[in-house]
Amino acid sequence: MNKKELWDKFDSTFRDFDLENGAYAAPGRVNLIGEHTDYNDGFVMPMAIEKEITMLAQLRPDKKIKFYSLDYDQLVEYDLNNLEYDQENVWANYLLGVVDEIQKLGKKLQGFNLMFTGNVPQGSGLSSSAALEVVTAMTICDLHKIKIDGVEMALLAQRAENNFVGVQCGIMDQYISRLGKKDHALLIDCRSNDYQLVPFKNDDYQIVICNSKVERGLVDSEYNQRRNECNQAVEFFAKKENEKITALRDVELKTVEKYKEEIPENVYKRAHHVVSENDRVLASQKALESDEMHKFGELMYASHKSLSEDYEVSCKELDILVEIAAEENITGARMTGAGFGGCTVNLVKKDRTEQFLKIIKEKYKKETDIDAEVYISNPAAGARKIYVEPQPDY
Ligand code: ADP
Ligand code: MG
Repeated sequence: MNKKELWDKFDSTFRDFDLENGAYAAPGRVNLIGEHTDYNDGFVMPMAIEKEITMLAQLRPDKKIKFYSLDYDQLVEYDLNNLEYDQENVWANYLLGVVDEIQKLGKKLQGFNLMFTGNVPQGSGLSSSAALEVVTAMTICDLHKIKIDGVEMALLAQRAENNFVGVQCGIMDQYISRLGKKDHALLIDCRSNDYQLVPFKNDDYQIVICNSKVERGLVDSEYNQRRNECNQAVEFFAKKENEKITALRDVELKTVEKYKEEIPENVYKRAHHVVSENDRVLASQKALESDEMHKFGELMYASHKSLSEDYEVSCKELDILVEIAAEENITGARMTGAGFGGCTVNLVKKDRTEQFLKIIKEKYKKETDIDAEVYISNPAAGARKIYVEPQPDY
C-alpha cells in the first residue's frame, strides 16, 4: 500500500477526531556477528534491515485504545485503565505491553487509534516483535509529546516484551530497531548497555539474508541447557582463576585452553564458543571500520563453525546454506539468531548477488526439498517519524 492508500484505510477504519496524528516506522534487524554472547555479558553487532513496521496513529478524546492489524485484518479495543493480557489476539500484547510500560513511568495517556502493517518476516529471527514494540513506543510517545531518549525507549520496549509478552529477550533487538542508522552496524556491550555505531558502507557489498524456513522448535530447552553450561563454566573459572569472574565476558581464550582437560567437554566447548565469539565481534568492528570486507567475511565463517561445532545450535539446513555460500566463494556467511532454524546472513559482492540468489535457492531446494526465502538489505535506519498528514506528495 502506498501512503495515500494507507491513510485512506486509516480514515475508513476509525478516524473520527480532529486530533494529533502521525506515521512512524521501525525496522527489523539481522545480527551480523556475536551469537549467544548477550547473556554472557558480551558483545553483539546487529544492523537494521530494510524491512519494517509502519504505524499510523491518532489521539482520541477518551480513554479507549484501538489497534488495527492490517496484516491480520483484526481490530481490537481496550480501556487504558484496564490493561490485561489478550489470550485471543496474541499480537496485541506487544502493543499493550508498551502502553503498560509507559503508564508505569507515571505518564498520563489519553486514548488513541493505531493501525499498522509490516514486512518483517515473523518468527524468523529478524525481530518483527521488537520492530512492533519500538514503533508503538515511538508512536505513543510522539503523539503525547513524551520526551524519552533512544536508549530509554529501547529499554522500555524490552521491558514490554519481558513483562507483558513474557519473553525474556536481551537488549539487542530493541536497541538496534530504535538506534540503528543507515550505513551503520551497531556494536552493543551487553554488560554496560553502551553502544557504538560502526560505519558499514561499501558500495561493492550487500547483505543477503537466507531464511531456511525451518521452525525454531528446540530453542527453549536447548537454550536453558546452554545457559546452565555457561554458568558452570563461570563458576569453574571463578574458582580456579579469579573470583572477580562473573561472566564468560571476563575470561580470556588462553584461560579456556589452559583448563581444557579439566572441565567437562561440553562446558569447555560452550566457553570456547562464547569467549572466541566475543573476540570475533571486536575484530569485526575493526574490520568494518577499516573497510576490510574479506577479514569480516572470514570472521563470519569462523563464527558459524564455532556455533555449529562448539555451541551446537546450528542444524542441517543452516549448515547447508553456509556450505553453499562457501562453495560459491561468497565473502562471508553464518547462521544468525538463536539457531535450530531461522536465517543465515551472507556478505555478498554486489556483482555476485543475482547469481548467488539463484544458485542458493536451487541447491538448497535440491538438498532439503525446502524453498528458501531470500532478502537483500543494506544497513538501514532505525525507528523514525515518517510523515504527517496532509503531505504535498500525497
Ligand atoms: P520474531 O521477533 O523473530 O519475528 P517473535 O515470535 O518474537 O518472532 O514475534 C513475532 C510476533 O510478533 C508475531 O507472532 C505477531 O504476534 C507479532 N507481529 C510481528 N509483526 C507483526 C505484524 N506485521 N502484524 C501483527 N503482528 C505482528
Ligand atoms: Mg522476537
